[in-house]
Amino acid sequence: MLRKNTRATNMSIWNKLSQEEIQQRVFDALAENINYVDENILGVPASYLDEKVFPHESPLLRDAPFLSSLIQNPNHIGCHTLGKSESFFAGTQQIERELIEICAAEILHGEKGQFDGYVASGGTEANLQAIWIYRNYFQRKHQASREEICILCSEDSHYSMDKAANVLSIDIFKVEVEEDSREISSASIRVAIESAKAQGKKHFIVIANMMTTMFGSVDKVDLYVEELKKQACHYKIHVDGAFGGFFYPFTKGQSKLNFSNPEINSVTLDAHKMAQAPYGTGIFLIRKGWIHYANTQEASYVEGEDFTLIGSRSGANAIAVWMILMKHGPFGWREKIFILQKRTEWMCDELKKLDIQYYNHSRSNIITIQARHVAPKIAQTFGLVPDNHDRPQWYKIVIMEHVTIERLLPLVMALS
Ligand SMILES: *Cc1c(COP(=O)(O)O)cnc(C)c1O
Repeated sequence: MLRKNTRATNMSIWNKLSQEEIQQRVFDALAENINYVDENILGVPASYLDEKVFPHESPLLRDAPFLSSLIQNPNHIGCHTLGKSESFFAGTQQIERELIEICAAEILHGEKGQFDGYVASGGTEANLQAIWIYRNYFQRKHQASREEICILCSEDSHYSMDKAANVLSIDIFKVEVEEDSREISSASIRVAIESAKAQGKKHFIVIANMMTTMFGSVDKVDLYVEELKKQACHYKIHVDGAFGGFFYPFTKGQSKLNFSNPEINSVTLDAHKMAQAPYGTGIFLIRKGWIHYANTQEASYVEGEDFTLIGSRSGANAIAVWMILMKHGPFGWREKIFILQKRTEWMCDELKKLDIQYYNHSRSNIITIQARHVAPKIAQTFGLVPDNHDRPQWYKIVIMEHVTIERLLPLVMALS
């Protein structure tokens, strides 16, 4: 039980592992789950993947912990940071717990053991989970009516905020950003709060962006806090780091968008964006003492009940993200991000030389070019994504792993 001891000390748990160590750890965890082949497991609506379609004896699986996880198909239903969970999948749930701890404590500077969380279907679900929790909190703890609760976020926020407003039946107020800097300001926050208050809103679910989808812009969360305090608002702050969560914390400079800031109560990260994990790897993190506002006690057939929005979900997803982080280690991850930043800088310099107007946050790998510089043919050839497919005003380049300088050069040529 060496692992338990390590968790209890001050040592970091995010340490680079060799391929052999990673493989051993995952196979050991799978062996601690129930085994439908060797044991008599008669009461769960679950089994391994259909072996007629997915052969279990394939030699491909021997050195492939992720594929083996898919074949065994553990169900990580529920939340595993709370103590009690489905005992059938205890082995791989431990890997998910470790992943949550790495994200909350080591990437986002929270205190060890002080966070709950789970691997959600994506950023959309993780954002919905946060907003759901705070809506229920305001209703239950402060006797708020739905009409008195609202979402407050910038106009550059992801559309999952509008989805959440619709699903949870609460209003949403958007803070204007300045056209060129994409920044919110005290004045624009004040205008949004005043208009919300005029419509009877008393409780604010605030979303601060750690890199927006279209611009990679980052909200100055202090501006929200100052303005909300000045106007004596009741609020909770969630950070949407679906795009930036595995990028921004690894760039040089201070950040207020992590758990060292007591104002930040929860965070969304998406491993299927910058971490190149399989789809289905949104990560939801929240301080201890909050996730119970999303508990569904009626989930009585689930051991430990269900504190998540999703229900059944694949344990292989958590394993994939854990494997990616352990393979690189914290320093390898920093280097990976550093290279993407350098390529971004290179592209920005080229655009400057061509006198092309663009937006780029100095700590981001998104470059958003004003549409007047981009002929529709160029956008199509290079797969540039517009802000709006009907009336594009901006096109973005996202410097991902495969977006190398060799790949960027032809675009520079086309734009010149
Ligand atoms: C992509 C994205 C989301 C939504 O994530 P999905 O995984 O597609 O559900 C939310 N917020 C931001 C900032 C994003 O970039």
